[in-house]
Amino acid sequence: MPRFFIDTSHNVGEFVAIDGENLDHLKVLRPRIGEALELCNSAERVVYHAETAKISRHDAQVKIIRQSLADSEPAVKITLFQAIPKLDKMELIIQKCVELGVYRIVPVVTDRTVSNPPNAAQKLKRWQKIAHAAAQQSRRDIIPEIGDIITLQGVLSELSNFDSAFVAYECETGIQASEAFKTASLQHIALFVGPEGGFEPAEIQALCAAGVKSVSLGKRILRTETAAFASMIILLSAQGEF
Ligand code: SAH
Repeated sequence: MPRFFIDTSHNVGEFVAIDGENLDHLKVLRPRIGEALELCNSAERVVYHAETAKISRHDAQVKIIRQSLADSEPAVKITLFQAIPKLDKMELIIQKCVELGVYRIVPVVTDRTVSNPPNAAQKLKRWQKIAHAAAQQSRRDIIPEIGDIITLQGVLSELSNFDSAFVAYECETGIQASEAFKTASLQHIALFVGPEGGFEPAEIQALCAAGVKSVSLGKRILRTETAAFASMIILLSAQGEF
């Protein structure tokens, strides 16, 4: 059943006009009159269960049938600090991590990433659009935010906002992610994943000095996108979300 994000409040029985990008998306789905859909107001944590009442070339209306509490979000909020990978890999990482339940994704410039990408503003817009589409598709209650591109140094000052912070580090031999994530304090967790070339040892040192715990994802070296998915899955599963 398709889900659309809205920021307005409604009553059961009310007819609501669908407009803007939601209208474009609805038209692509070519629904018949009476077909079910959901409108989600993230801020109010409400899902309106509705059905299409009118669809024409230029407008559409749905009727609200009932409402319920939006409850598909994980209890734990994970902010993924992802070193910017090459090519379009960031798009895949955003799409999949939104499906899995990430709260926020912040693209990070590290020593071994291609420095601040040109046309960053355009990229961010595109990444946010991908997050929006993935949130709709996976029926999230929120659209995870894609933060502004930041340097690793810049992140260090943000760390006090988190209850626990981890960095996936392929040279870590002592601490397994599956164990470390079990004891993580709930609420808000920061997760760092390095670029194709990995983090520099000095970067790992700086992260650890700032209280970030380094964890292993196993003996095999994963590609950066695989490491992002694996750490999300291990973390959510350690916290009882799967
Ligand atoms: N420098 C490495 C590759 C880095 S892999 C090399 O070429 O040998 C890219 C990122 O994925 C790493 O920075 C790390 O964050 C994560 N990663 C990959 N495999 C991992 C593992 N086994 N344990 C923890 N993190 C891993």
